[in-house]
Amino acid sequence: MSLPALPQHIVTRFAPSPTGRLHIGHGWSALMAHDLARGAGGIFRLRIEDIDGARSREEHVAGIVEDLTWLGIGWAGAVVRQSERLGHYADALDRLKAMGLVYPCFCTRADIAGSASAPHGPEGPVYPGTCRALTKGERAARTAQEPHAWRIDMARAVAQAGALTWQDADRGTIIADPLAAGDVVLARKDAPTSYHLAATLDDAAMGINFVLRGSDLIAATDIHRLLQALLDLPTPIYRHHGLLVDAQGKRLAKRSGGIQLAQLRADGMDPERLRDDLRQGRFPVGISVQSS
Ligand code: GLU
Repeated sequence: MSLPALPQHIVTRFAPSPTGRLHIGHGWSALMAHDLARGAGGIFRLRIEDIDGARSREEHVAGIVEDLTWLGIGWAGAVVRQSERLGHYADALDRLKAMGLVYPCFCTRADIAGSASAPHGPEGPVYPGTCRALTKGERAARTAQEPHAWRIDMARAVAQAGALTWQDADRGTIIADPLAAGDVVLARKDAPTSYHLAATLDDAAMGINFVLRGSDLIAATDIHRLLQALLDLPTPIYRHHGLLVDAQGKRLAKRSGGIQLAQLRADGMDPERLRDDLRQGRFPVGISVQSS
């Protein structure tokens, strides 16, 4: 296996969603990305993924800044906020519309969950394609009146892009399989984008050439690689780290108490000590890296 050469000048980022306080898994992830960039004279940036208007909270944005600062993690440049970049996402979606690669979807979550034919993909149930079959006339009439998301016509997009690979810093060349995820949403009913479109566009706009994130996003990387090909964007190198789990093997969540950075701070933890521990892969009792 040949591993990709890392960029000479690494530009990486940490991209939390402000839906809760950061836990030590976030601190660990951010610290790894930060160290990787800083160790090589590169750049570490911070992006707030706040497109989910219902779940994102200003107090959590402030909490992220506070927690990272407490942990001694600094970032270059201004904090990028996805909520301030909606026009860019809408432009990219327009390009995909003009290419005939997206279609409006009127289904509710319940419609999709209730569809017996929905197979499971890496990201949950694969959309059964109900709205892909609508005629041009039906689409036009319904988009004018009904709330709708925009989904990628994955088979068509993959046919257009051809075979794609991406580089994993630890595993070498990976063959992208975006078809497995099906017709994922590129723009939600309540936002002119989705995580996939926004993160792909932002990584390109921020000059990110190395993405370090959790292994729960490996399948997402296949989708992002496809979007890069369709939108003529550069492809970063990726590394996916294991996720932290508790003694029961359950993934740490923003809601779980006790392991939040803010809690450790309130308990009097010395941030320098915590930083050292995280760098050595030493976690609080009961917490470990999930073996994948
Ligand atoms: N916002 C995502 C999360 O909090 C991370 C996305 C990414 O690193 O690409 O899980």
